[in-house]
Amino acid sequence: MRTNCKMEYLWLDGYETPNIRSKTRYMTIESEDGSMTVKDIPEWGFDGSSTEQASGNDSDCILKPVSIFLNPVDSTSFPNSYLVLCEVFNKDGTPHPSNHRSSLREACEGTDDLEMWLGIEQEYTVMDPEKGRPYGWPDMGYPQPQGRYYCGVGGDVVKMRDLAHQHAMCCLDSKIPLCGANAEVMLSQWEYQIGPASPTNVCDYLWVSRYILEILAESVGASISLDPKLIKGDWNGSGAHINFSTKFMREVGGKDYIDDVCNSLGESHEDHIANYGVGNEQRLTGTHETQHINEFTYGESDRGASIRIPHSTAEGHKGYLEDRRPASNMDPYKAV
Ligand code: ADP
Ligand code: MN
Ligand code: MN
Ligand code: MN
Repeated sequence: MRTNCKMEYLWLDGYETPNIRSKTRYMTIESEDGSMTVKDIPEWGFDGSSTEQASGNDSDCILKPVSIFLNPVDSTSFPNSYLVLCEVFNKDGTPHPSNHRSSLREACEGTDDLEMWLGIEQEYTVMDPEKGRPYGWPDMGYPQPQGRYYCGVGGDVVKMRDLAHQHAMCCLDSKIPLCGANAEVMLSQWEYQIGPASPTNVCDYLWVSRYILEILAESVGASISLDPKLIKGDWNGSGAHINFSTKFMREVGGKDYIDDVCNSLGESHEDHIANYGVGNEQRLTGTHETQHINEFTYGESDRGASIRIPHSTAEGHKGYLEDRRPASNMDPYKAV
């Protein structure tokens, strides 16, 4: 069956903190019953010299579709409109150095039996792009100090609720497992949670959910900042806590086992921090619900620790752990 489709190809560029890029392809696609799977979508290419992925005299990079979603943020009424998440490859068929998804795929090979689940809490700040300040902040000075904003209710303490709720609905429409959202500690700072899902899937979901958020923000003249410490001083930064468990942790666990997992995370602390986002040292100061970047600690219900053992996990010594160190701007393919 032949279907006229609008395909928004998404990929990550070559910046140190990757940005999502996209371009649109209108095409007829042959599939069995008109419903698309990623195998039905052809490869495409782009100019890598404009995304820090190639030089101008050898600029072609390859887009390989890896995951497909219904496009919930197409403002036109095009009937078959999809988001196509891609990995970037070199012309010779090798993964491009910026393609950290391919490294994650490799790292996960043979780990299906572990039944790893991951859930990511994405914090972000809605910005007024003309003023370069968080939305609803005064032109000069600061809004009232932190206190009532977190899970706040009321026009004096909450801005952009509609954006947060539209975002949740669009993600769910695209079958992205978004499981919650809340206003955060700073005015115009929000959070949503994705998962739990398998390692590669949760990262794909997070990137597509970030894309959806940017497009919705565009449509109301706002933009999204993932800066981990946007406002210096007595204002919370933004993180992207990674919650994780294996089948064994969920079903068997044990106090010693949970301690072992935490201690082994501690042994790789520096390696982890190197993959948890640029500028994270501004955020991990040991205050504002963080542990200092040079310290590693874990503890039950402790939001000042690197790893929090949620109360529900500590109670029966089984369940999941929360890594509070990753910054809001981390690339999940590297961090996970
Ligand atoms: P908090 O703000 O208290 O840290 P949230 O409710 O914001 O917690 O986020 C919890 C996250 O944990 C969600 O992303 C959810 O998908 C994830 N999660 C829940 N249960 C598990 C589990 N068993 N394994 C891995 N992740 C989990
Ligand atoms: Mn949370
Ligand atoms: Mn939070
Ligand atoms: Mn958390």
